[in-house]
Amino acid sequence: MVAFTMPFHLIVNVLSMRRPGGWLIVGWFAFGLWPAHLIAQTSGSESLSVAGTAAYRQDRILIQRKARVSPSVLADFHAARRGKVLRSFEGLGRLQVVRVPAGETVQSLIAKYQQSGLVEFAEPDYAVQAAATMPNDPKFLDGTLWGLHNIGQSGGTVDADIDAPEGWDVLTSASDIVVAVLDTGVRYTHEDLAANMWVNPNDGGHGFNALTGTNNPQDDQGHGTLVSGMLGGVGNNGKGVAGVAWRVQIMACKCLDSSGNGNDSDVIECIDYARTNGVRIINASLDSPTYSQAMSNAIYSVREVGIIFIASAGNVSVNIDLNPRYPSCYEIDNIVSVAYTTPFDTLGSFSNYGATNVDLAAPGAAVYSTFFTADNAYLGASAIQGTSFAAPYVAGTFALMLSKYRSENYQDIISRVLNATDPLPALSGKCVTGGRLNLRKALSPPINLTAIAVSTGGPFSLRVSGGPNRTCVIERTTDLTSWEPIHTNITSAAGTFDFTDSQPGIPAQRFYRAVSTP
Ligand code: CA
Ligand code: CA
Repeated sequence: MVAFTMPFHLIVNVLSMRRPGGWLIVGWFAFGLWPAHLIAQTSGSESLSVAGTAAYRQDRILIQRKARVSPSVLADFHAARRGKVLRSFEGLGRLQVVRVPAGETVQSLIAKYQQSGLVEFAEPDYAVQAAATMPNDPKFLDGTLWGLHNIGQSGGTVDADIDAPEGWDVLTSASDIVVAVLDTGVRYTHEDLAANMWVNPNDGGHGFNALTGTNNPQDDQGHGTLVSGMLGGVGNNGKGVAGVAWRVQIMACKCLDSSGNGNDSDVIECIDYARTNGVRIINASLDSPTYSQAMSNAIYSVREVGIIFIASAGNVSVNIDLNPRYPSCYEIDNIVSVAYTTPFDTLGSFSNYGATNVDLAAPGAAVYSTFFTADNAYLGASAIQGTSFAAPYVAGTFALMLSKYRSENYQDIISRVLNATDPLPALSGKCVTGGRLNLRKALSPPINLTAIAVSTGGPFSLRVSGGPNRTCVIERTTDLTSWEPIHTNITSAAGTFDFTDSQPGIPAQRFYRAVSTP
């Protein structure tokens, strides 16, 4: 598994503006990144979103001084415009908050700063909203499920979590996606799982039991029911827990016995059952020190039909690049291997790791989930931990991803998830991504926005610069509130495209920005 992250920054250069009397070449003004994300990300665990239609304050704007412009020159400009600096953030890219003086409007003042050549950008102070979807499940609300939403409730580190509520703003349900849980079985009658169990249209069962050869995969150990609740415990039903996917179809495939042990042949039989019954994801919270050609072939066969195979990295505190564990170490590109993290965003003390063979980590300590002893049973303890419980958070994320990005293949989806992790110091060199799962980033990659380019009238040309082959939308506004998409293009291999807005009949002062689509 190879993951790469290529930072992508959009830049808009104003090529020219035509004023009455002909073209005026105004040079190459580079505008910086839209700083809303910069601000939002300093605000802690809540995701702050800036909507295209958001209102903005009428009494202040935000500007960023160009690095080569001396503060005193900018101060003179402020004084001449009667723009009082209310706040300065030198550490945040020389950001300043400037009061709009009497007699000015936000639009007119932004235009003046943009045209001064002194600032990287000038923009409105948009309203932001805390965005987060909170389910009503009691064990989510009381903070037990720290891996989904960590506010330091158990002495942990704030935001050492997968940003689930922010991700749920985008999507909560993967009801059309079938995930096979290869494990000790599942208590499929459990109050917080029953509604999310896959139903075999042929026999009405919920999966397969390779040990008995029947369609009854009842859990007689508990591990598989714990895993299932983390992946797909019914969300927002007022009971128990919430899985990463509130709605999903869990196929129970029992290949481990009442002691939690199993054999390759039973695992392979479950893989084949999953393959022939339409699953998109297999969660295998199991591992072995032994290479099996048959197992490798079985996983390769489900790769051929695009099934994503989530494997726990194992719990013996070793580097599996040196001490291989399987399935994590089979070199097949549909395998995603998962280590586990703690409420402090550290690597779990038992977790295996490996810069080559482990892809990412997810929360897996101090677990609380559905249990197999009764239909209303739950189990949680600070001591319950392991990569087994990190894998289903990743599998639940993949279920939502497959539901959202329907036209993409397994490689595209895996790249999205691996490129969306939160890099952690504790994971550096310990896995391919060096990061912990982040649901929000996976479901809603940050869009890149340029700062605003302003035209004072007539046709207007600009150049978008960024990475190669990126789809970008040029948007235009006159009021800085309602942004209208007017042009879509793909950057060249050199990472640019030029755009000219020559439409007549629009007000003299327009603002432009470029947005890259996820
Ligand atoms: Ca969070
Ligand atoms: Ca629930």
